[in-house]
Amino acid sequence: MKQLISRIVIIGAGQAGAWAAHTLRQQGFDGTLSVVSDEERVFYERPPLSKQVLAGDMAPAALQLFSDEAIDAMHIDWHKPARATAIDPRDHVVTLDNGTELAYDKLLLATGSRARVPVREWLSLPQVYTVRTPEDAARLGERLAPGKRLAILGGGWIGLEVAATARAKGVAVSLFELGERLCARSVRPEVSDYLRDLHREQGVEVELDCGAIELAAGDGGGLVLYRDGQRLLEADAVVVGAGAEIATELGRDAGLEVAQGLVVDDHGRTSDPDIYAAGDVAIHPRLGFCIQSWANAQNQAISAAKAMLGETSPYRDEPWIWSDQYDCNIQILGTPAGHDSRLVRRQVGDKQLAFIYLDQDDRLQSMIAVNDARLVKLGKRWLRAGTVLPADQLADPAVNPMALKP
Ligand SMILES: Cc1cc2nc3c(=O)[nH]c(=O)nc-3n(C[C@H](O)[C@H](O)[C@H](O)COP(=O)(O)OP(=O)(O)OC[C@H]3O[C@@H](n4cnc5c(N)ncnc54)[C@H](O)[C@@H]3O)c2cc1C
Repeated sequence: MKQLISRIVIIGAGQAGAWAAHTLRQQGFDGTLSVVSDEERVFYERPPLSKQVLAGDMAPAALQLFSDEAIDAMHIDWHKPARATAIDPRDHVVTLDNGTELAYDKLLLATGSRARVPVREWLSLPQVYTVRTPEDAARLGERLAPGKRLAILGGGWIGLEVAATARAKGVAVSLFELGERLCARSVRPEVSDYLRDLHREQGVEVELDCGAIELAAGDGGGLVLYRDGQRLLEADAVVVGAGAEIATELGRDAGLEVAQGLVVDDHGRTSDPDIYAAGDVAIHPRLGFCIQSWANAQNQAISAAKAMLGETSPYRDEPWIWSDQYDCNIQILGTPAGHDSRLVRRQVGDKQLAFIYLDQDDRLQSMIAVNDARLVKLGKRWLRAGTVLPADQLADPAVNPMALKP
């Protein structure tokens, strides 16, 4: 027998929370839909923050995922800005920091993640920035004038995007990465090398294996970077791009099973049958780790929202992430390649390049494509169909990959 559901609460109004709310109403849920958000601005997407918004080419209002009218039509019982501070899974109640208590039949945790700042004291330095909200991007954008110097601590995707945007604004950029290579968690060494060369060609000073950096106020209003007591440089601004902290605390305190993120099945269900999770805060059910991407947040949330209403729409998407740097659109499809995979390099002209990884049976395992969205689209079909791919033809720029259709 189907459970009667009249009250759904969503905590978090980012990409995942927004798509869950939209899907619930689209699927005909007409009960009370409460959304709790600690940000005043809701239902907006973050990818343009380190790109167009930081560059000054996009207004924050354009980030909103749905029109004002569409959001009004969702008839949401808003609680914002307000923070959910506790969940009582036995009595099905969420408590907010303003004392409000919200009863639920089903609850979705879409609390996402936040920028990780490894040294807490850095947060009190006005020249230190993270990029997570439109306000962050606007504040940093104001500092990035031609001739200024920016230091970036961390060579992950956000650090690299900020570097590219800053260079386009005529800012001198020095990037420091603790590890031996860039984006080491998501790509193999040959792609890290490609990224390093791309940024060096654009004038970014990239220092790998950089050791511990310390920050102190400089004479010119900026921050001086030190290593082992040695002065390295003075920067007008320092961006910390040291990865994200997954916001699992609410779920953990409520006794839910937690790994890197909240553990969910392929319907977004946590270890409590009435609590779901989606987006950055949840693991990918098959892979067991958090994907932290726009598409994952959207599609996992859609699947979880349907499951809350008793529909089965299992979430099994392959990870897909993109990044824009200079004139390169970089797309990553699939899981980071294993050491037993075989690399096929496909270069078409000067602008298109793909690193294609095949498993031992010549089936696609993952791909990183630069300026080749069509190949990635095809790659999604190859992955779904388990297509066996001829490596020599894939590598040949004269062969149209469409001819290798699944
Ligand atoms: C600068 C930047 C650039 C990016 N670029 C790309 C890209 O190019 N491609 C790509 O695929 N992905 C990109 N991403 C990643 C993508 O934006 C995230 O994966 C996505 O935003 C995750 O959505 P979410 O809803 O799960 O979490 P979030 O967007 O983090 O939203 C969670 C919301 O919940 C709120 N919240 C948390 N705890 C509570 C609480 N207790 N009570 C109330 N509210 C709470 C948070 O404040 C936040 O508003 C980028 C991310 C950033 C920051």
